[in-house]
Amino acid sequence: MLEACSRLRRGGALATAFCMIITRFAPSPTGRLHVGNIRTALHNWMLAQKLGGKFLLRIDDTDPERSKEEYVEAIRADLAWLGIHPDGEERQSLRLARYDAAFDVLKAAGRVYPAYETAQELELKRKVQLGRGKPPTYDRGALDMSDADRAAKEAQGIQPHWRFKLDHEEAIAWEDGVRGIAKFDPKLLSDPVIRRADGSWLYMLPSAVDDVEMGITHVLRGEDHVSNTAVQIQMFTALYAAGFAAAPDAAKQHPEFAHEALLVGTEGKLSKRLGSLGCDALREKHIEPQALVAMLARLGTSLPVEAIADRAVLLDTFDLSTFGRAPAKFDDAELERVNTAIVHGLSFADAAPRLPGGMDEAGWHAVRPNVAHMGEVAEWWRLVIGPIDQLDFTDEDKAFLADAAKALTWSGDASFDPWGALTSSLKEATGRKGKQLFLPLRQALTGMNHGPDMGELLPLIGEEGAKRRLERAAEG
Ligand code: GLU
Repeated sequence: MLEACSRLRRGGALATAFCMIITRFAPSPTGRLHVGNIRTALHNWMLAQKLGGKFLLRIDDTDPERSKEEYVEAIRADLAWLGIHPDGEERQSLRLARYDAAFDVLKAAGRVYPAYETAQELELKRKVQLGRGKPPTYDRGALDMSDADRAAKEAQGIQPHWRFKLDHEEAIAWEDGVRGIAKFDPKLLSDPVIRRADGSWLYMLPSAVDDVEMGITHVLRGEDHVSNTAVQIQMFTALYAAGFAAAPDAAKQHPEFAHEALLVGTEGKLSKRLGSLGCDALREKHIEPQALVAMLARLGTSLPVEAIADRAVLLDTFDLSTFGRAPAKFDDAELERVNTAIVHGLSFADAAPRLPGGMDEAGWHAVRPNVAHMGEVAEWWRLVIGPIDQLDFTDEDKAFLADAAKALTWSGDASFDPWGALTSSLKEATGRKGKQLFLPLRQALTGMNHGPDMGELLPLIGEEGAKRRLERAAEG
């Protein structure tokens, strides 16, 4: 049955699977989500949606010093704001007993070993190796220690940290959903430290244990994890071989992996502006969640970034075979463009909860083309409800505006166009046209030189308000 699982094959179709697809997003709660990890979350969610599977949120909180509950809550809130709803949540801090169990099994199988080097000793070893022009992989000095050596260390009160022993004879290869065939020679990798001397966990083993026990079928993450994947592939095999869990299939010893190119800013690193901001700050800057989703869904793919608010469309076109290997450029200006286009496409119903009190559908339609962020709506709406700024006019314009106040006509008929009626009668009466005709009227009626379409705005300002503004401008 598992053979029918879809594969994240580069260039291949993502076929519907018979097995349950399970993806996960595994942030460490040490800060707010930013565009890089929002993108990872989004892609894992999309993959699960696309394949009819499940998407889990896994909180990687094994580091009690740096993990904060406020960030756990913020991650949940940020995902909800983005419309990414996990099908379940797991927490590593609640699963420590499982990591202990895996550790015991691997230790009994000879796949973890104690090491006693201090950070300074390791640094020295690295320098010596680099000096000899060799890769600075761990030299497995701890494996040469005798029982007596270890006892001597412990008699001095030195507790060991623990390393996972890579199998140097087991070649590591996988078909990466983005990068194609990936191969690693285990001899060129260091045996990773998996557990500190105080018993606390580093990232590597708990993640593999979770992926095994949570039935994760597809791991999609940044390419900074490629060498972790090489190590974790051996961890999966070791856990299955040591009987910690039953492999889903003899031919299936690990999840499908795909590593996406990292995001960079237009000048190399992620920009100081939007690209490096937390989700909270993006929200405060009135970036719409749909804009972030539309942009991050396609950034770094061969598909164009477009202001697509409809997720079904984004899901339809989501395909790992479109992902490129070059770093994806995150451009603030592009996010702003997408945001503006998303705002311009917001229906009244969608915008209504965030509109100023009293603003109706006609009001939204009148100001919408001028709004790049929802935070600007109130400012434009003030042109309708006032107070507006009083500008200075020449005597000639004042006389023209006095005429305008008198020429203003109104009708209860909804199809009546007061702006069209006013400007055509003034044009005829005064001979003014173009800017000379329109600008003083706009300035007197709104206190601004530019803004929403006057034909839409004037009916909202209303007869009385418009007359008052024109008269006040005429009086100066
Ligand atoms: N907590 C890890 C990280 O944020 C998870 C990596 C993974 O997806 O396995 O980098």
